[in-house]
Amino acid sequence: MKIGVPKEVKNNEYRVGLTPAAVDALIEAGHQVVIEEGAGEGSGFFDLEYLKAGAQIGRAIDAWEAELVIKVKEPIPTEYSYFREGLKLFTYLHLAANEMLTKALKKEKVTAVAYETVQTEKGTLPLLAPMSEVAGRMSIQVGAQCLEKRMGGSGIVLGGVPGVKPARVMIVGGGVVGTQAAKVAVGMGAEVSIFDVNANRLRQLDDLFNGRTRTLMSTKYALTEEIQQADLVIGAVLIPGKKAPRLVTRDMVTRMRSGSVIVDVAIDQGGCIETADHVTTHDQPTYMVDGVVHYAVANIPGAVPRTSTIALNNQTLPYILKLAKGDLTKALLAGFNVIDGHITCKGVAEAFSFPY
Ligand code: NAD
Repeated sequence: MKIGVPKEVKNNEYRVGLTPAAVDALIEAGHQVVIEEGAGEGSGFFDLEYLKAGAQIGRAIDAWEAELVIKVKEPIPTEYSYFREGLKLFTYLHLAANEMLTKALKKEKVTAVAYETVQTEKGTLPLLAPMSEVAGRMSIQVGAQCLEKRMGGSGIVLGGVPGVKPARVMIVGGGVVGTQAAKVAVGMGAEVSIFDVNANRLRQLDDLFNGRTRTLMSTKYALTEEIQQADLVIGAVLIPGKKAPRLVTRDMVTRMRSGSVIVDVAIDQGGCIETADHVTTHDQPTYMVDGVVHYAVANIPGAVPRTSTIALNNQTLPYILKLAKGDLTKALLAGFNVIDGHITCKGVAEAFSFPY
């Protein structure tokens, strides 16, 4: 099959659909790959590496003319002109929040497979997890920077130093983001507490960290008590398919010490912290509320495109190989949101009252 990889055109998007290693595996499996010139540069992968792996380098139109197009972000309106009957598109789509794109895919009879709805039989979302892993680890990295004085922070080192106590990190939500955040925070020497409502999850975290974090049931009472001691709060809650619940209230935030920091990773789902009421960008990532630094970037992995591209490819490649071969497993079928212009994802059909 001919597979195309156009350069991402969305503002500030530096990831790319395939790494040279993934191209190598696809060529090995008997496919042809066309990469748009310079598509990998933002992630540090240059055309020569793709050529060596056996790809052809072409223009955007050459990549889009392939039977299967692999991207990272959902197509933006300037890319809709490449849509056509017979095209298979595999990328993050988030269609339930994008009526214009859904209509364009429908009208041009495209088959669109969404990374975010590929689902294993255990109910996990394997193509969302790598970005949560990146965002979770990054949340502590950016949180530590925000604690610096120049960023409005209280001017402390996360791990303390000999003779000076470490910072207290409070993580709300102990899923993929929360676990990875805890790993980095523990590694940097902070005192870490993790809140979740799922008792089994708390048990697993307790085993995993073996006494190096405190695990706490997420109640309003416990959150209010803990937040008054916290230097860094990470919002990492998810209720699948729903807007994030506002667990940390404005009242709780007013009780935080001046110069403390909130990183609301769940901001892409509306945020789980009441005062994190708008999304920020990598260009201007923070704002202050009541003396507390708020970081609310909705695409944290975008700051580290090389790691993110490789992490994404590690997970997408097996599915790309299956899709290209026509081996449509149950997990992969869950990714099909549109088939030849027909909406085949219940959530998307319901969002816009399309027949399903
Ligand atoms: P996950 O499903 O792995 O974990 C979510 C956790 O929240 C679960 O353990 C769940 O039990 C817990 N939870 C639910 N209700 C809770 C409550 N009331 N109190 C405490 N915990 C509660 O999800 P994830 O992959 O870790 O993602 C977390 C959030 O991060 C999502 O909103 C996701 O979209 C977002 N995210 C953001 C970025 C970004 O760049 N900003 C990147 C990746 C993921």
